[in-house]
Amino acid sequence: MVPQQRQSRTQGRMRRSHDALTARRTVRCPNCGAHKLPHAACRDCGYVRPGLKLEFSKED
Ligand SMILES: [Zn+2]
Repeated sequence: MVPQQRQSRTQGRMRRSHDALTARRTVRCPNCGAHKLPHAACRDCGYVRPGLKLEFSKED
């Protein structure tokens, strides 16, 4: 399908005004201070939340 009429420069720009990407949010691990994704286990120490700590071997 092909547009029936060319969209104006302003209309195209107005549509793209919502297209910007935002950087990935990270939080500091309260256990070791490393950056980690929120609601995820820390890559360095495995800390998730008080009372829950995951043990895993580093694969990367
Ligand atoms: Zn940590």
